[in-house]
Amino acid sequence: MSERPPGCAVDVTDAAERVRAQLGSRINAPFRLLADHLPIGVFLTDGSQRVLYANRVLSELAGHEPDDAPLELDAALVHPDDLDRVVAVARRVIERGESRLVDCRLVDGEGSARAVRCRLAPVPDEAGRVVGLVGTVADHTDVERQLEHRATHDDLTNLPNRALLAAHLDAALARAALTRATVAVLFVGLNRIGVVIDALGHAAGDRLVRQAARRLVATVGPDALVSRFAEDRFVVVAEDLPGAEAAADLARAVVASMGDAFVIEGDDVFLGGIVGIAMAESGDGTVDQLVSDAGVALAHAADDGVPIAVFDAEMRAEVEARHTLERSLRRGLERGEFLLAYQPIVELAEGQLLGFEALARWVDPPAAGMGPAQFIPAAEDAGLIGALGQELLAQACEQLAHWQRVRSDVFVSVNLSARQLAEPDLAQRVAATLADAGADPAGLHLEITETVLLDDVERAVESLHQLKLVGVRLCLDDFGTGYSSLTYLCRLPVDVVKIDRSFVAGLGVSDRDSSVVAAIIGMAGTLGHDLVAEGVETTAQAGRLRALGCDMAQGYLFSRPVDAAAAAAMLDA
Ligand code: C2E
Ligand code: MG
Ligand code: MG
Repeated sequence: MSERPPGCAVDVTDAAERVRAQLGSRINAPFRLLADHLPIGVFLTDGSQRVLYANRVLSELAGHEPDDAPLELDAALVHPDDLDRVVAVARRVIERGESRLVDCRLVDGEGSARAVRCRLAPVPDEAGRVVGLVGTVADHTDVERQLEHRATHDDLTNLPNRALLAAHLDAALARAALTRATVAVLFVGLNRIGVVIDALGHAAGDRLVRQAARRLVATVGPDALVSRFAEDRFVVVAEDLPGAEAAADLARAVVASMGDAFVIEGDDVFLGGIVGIAMAESGDGTVDQLVSDAGVALAHAADDGVPIAVFDAEMRAEVEARHTLERSLRRGLERGEFLLAYQPIVELAEGQLLGFEALARWVDPPAAGMGPAQFIPAAEDAGLIGALGQELLAQACEQLAHWQRVRSDVFVSVNLSARQLAEPDLAQRVAATLADAGADPAGLHLEITETVLLDDVERAVESLHQLKLVGVRLCLDDFGTGYSSLTYLCRLPVDVVKIDRSFVAGLGVSDRDSSVVAAIIGMAGTLGHDLVAEGVETTAQAGRLRALGCDMAQGYLFSRPVDAAAAAAMLDA
């Protein structure tokens, strides 16, 4: 303390000197040792606020060297704007004998301010009179910095988070607008993280993400910003690129580095990465738009099975069209806009009606003429196929129950998508739906295509066996167009094979198609499967199929798909 700090008019008397000596004597070696090891600043003043002792932390905070003159509670130590307030609080502590907190700024050796919180407490003499004060000083600058850091960084990787990414990209775009430079945004996705977490647990997943983050930072170099955007998604912002090719080079380097093995618990783990790129020329575009464009490009790369995709306007249009279609599908499902059309399946020898294939129709599709070949895959992508499939199955079972009252041996053949077959409770639901409608399971045929075998053969075969236990019949649709081999066909518990329309169309036209049809018919006979030829349009095709020994057919030659009332009329006839 200065001899006469501002606002403190205290005479320097012998008595005061005595008190100082007395207080000073309390600061012995053990006290110093202890105080110098505390993580906060500690000081002692006399009644006129002269600093008698400051520990190491406070001295360092104040930029005070051991050889300097003793610390003074003046404008060189406390920020000039805060000094009066601090002195006033100190006086109150001494006058009233109560502890107080005061937040202020200290000025360090370089003249920059540090925010501190001081706790001041009175020091009594033997008679209980307050003769000085002790104080602790906690550096708030670090806490503030830590809080700021935490608000702008990801906990796991310590990389900038979305908030900092946005601020950084915004600034980069502003700079690029002046310098006419190119800014590239790379959306980086890690493959297979989910698989690794399933196999090795979340802690291993976290370690992998940290390793990948470090590797990404090293790959893109110090001039680019790397931020963690989501669980296994990073966004890189690269400025001052010479052009699009440089961004692609950077993306290739990222893909290469993510392709190298990561080591987790001594084992090599392979992830791989994909990158979507969006570019801003001369600062054009906004943060949200660029990040979203790069994300769209990433999704495209994933869909196309390629490691890198550069955003273009067509991608955006596609994404928007898909979103619109998804919304319409959802609404259409709520409003009951999906119905079934029924296409007769006939016995080839006599042309007698045996049953119907149920085909989904959208009463009010957003695009005229949109058929199931478009909206069924869209419903699969939107996660709606479960609900839509169930709705259609229920309709088909209701019809079946009606028709079975007229003709007990009629059947309805319902198409199932691969996603539906993967649902664990499919067999129970099919059984329950049949029971609700009061239909005999023997009249329900379920059509699957060979694509059900693409994911998990064992599970598909298991699901099919469960369906067989319900009492329904199974058909292999579009046979000959898929990837499966005869080996698989032998393993599938199917009853009917449907020869794909493309082969039927080639009958009598292409020798190859004719011999494929002959081979399929021969094979089905050997395995004991019934046969349905699809897409029969001419009497010539029907004749050839008959000659080759095919039992059943459907196609425009016999009837186009019709509504339920027309189908019922055909049954009555
Ligand atoms: P699919 O199961 O092979 O159905 C046969 C398709 O061929 C139907 O097309 C039918 O209208 C058409 N078709 C029938 N006879 C002829 C013919 O003589 N000539 C020609 N050119 N075409 C004929 P659609 O109704 O457009 O259905 C297309 C595909 O959509 C179906 O092929 C099936 O894979 C799928 N699909 C239809 N309804 C559903 C459904 O309810 N659920 C599922 N998961 N998929 C369905
Ligand atoms: Mg079908
Ligand atoms: Mg088919």
